[in-house]
Amino acid sequence: MKIHTKSIITLIISLIACCASIEAEDFTPAEKAQINIPTPGLFSKSKTFTVDFTSLRESEYSFPLPVGKARASGRGLTITTTRGDAVKAMFAGTVRLSRNIPGYGNVIVIRHRNGLETVYGGNAQNLVRAGSTVRAGQSIAIAGGVGDEARLIFEIMVNGRNINPQTLLSINSHKLQKHIFSFTDKGSSVVVAVNDAGEEEVEEKDESMVDLNRELTAAETNHVGITTPDLFEGRSSITINFAKYDSKDWCYPLRDSHVISPYGGKRHHSGVDIKTGPNDEIYAAFAGKVRFSKRYSGYGNVIVIRHASGLETVYSHNSKNLVSSGDWVKAGQAIALTGRTGRATTEHCHFEIRINGRAYNPALIFDHENHMLKKVKLVVNRSGKISVTESR
Ligand SMILES: [Zn+2]
Repeated sequence: MKIHTKSIITLIISLIACCASIEAEDFTPAEKAQINIPTPGLFSKSKTFTVDFTSLRESEYSFPLPVGKARASGRGLTITTTRGDAVKAMFAGTVRLSRNIPGYGNVIVIRHRNGLETVYGGNAQNLVRAGSTVRAGQSIAIAGGVGDEARLIFEIMVNGRNINPQTLLSINSHKLQKHIFSFTDKGSSVVVAVNDAGEEEVEEKDESMVDLNRELTAAETNHVGITTPDLFEGRSSITINFAKYDSKDWCYPLRDSHVISPYGGKRHHSGVDIKTGPNDEIYAAFAGKVRFSKRYSGYGNVIVIRHASGLETVYSHNSKNLVSSGDWVKAGQAIALTGRTGRATTEHCHFEIRINGRAYNPALIFDHENHMLKKVKLVVNRSGKISVTESR
């Protein structure tokens, strides 16, 4: 009974919030030209608004490509389908933008009355113009692509900030998560939480910056330090917030070990040397996909793991690699055994962290003395400049 009352109150609040905040149908030139732009008035009355998917009727929601296959990609989803399929509006709303934008091609942004905005890019043809109102499930574009395959770039935004679509819907069933979601303005980000019982907060994990499903190129499986394609496409910097990581999201690479040679110094050491005995297990620091696993000059046997955050981790001088290029690994999974292959005079693991091919000091994120992940937030820009802040 208590929960029932609460959800009714939340529903009323969400009705007030939506009706009060989003009325504008005359968009400014900037709103008609830019994908990521704040929604005027959205957070002017309250730092939080809610959207209720528990009572939504079937006719009020459509997956953008009902027969498509969706996967995480870039700031949202890539949905593949057959050429010529119609792209559907997810909810009712008003088309804010319909034009061609580099990186997206023909793209449509719809502003919905519930406060969300949805983005549909890569279209062969846009069928609606800025200012037109659309209903849920209405055909708004023809999906574009190469050959027989068509693909849609799909994103969800709140106040111009991207929200992980998988927080709100299942990419397998195409169904909405039947929850009341709250969206809270935190300045540089929007925090999404499930608000059914009024208390439970589920913060978003790091946005996925890299499409780990993409087939690796020959260059990627043959070189250790190489730029990550698309990492800075459509964005000037990436943020990795390690403070949000749970204990199961990370693992120090070696048990019972200590540092014998730090990063940097006179010899421009590209990583940190961590000492153990021979043939000790080396653990994946984070979940990800093995990009590289073989011998590589001075590194000896080396493994490079690409993580969805945009980070890559490197483990080398191994006596034996236990995983192959293309394998998915979990944080803490044994991936290799320590050795002294390559240029090494004693058994140790030369461990590196890299972003877009550039090596950074592993001590930025790992407390080597206590074998702990530091609660820090990294912001790295396209030119490689990195800033590290304490985070919580
Ligand atoms: Zn080293």
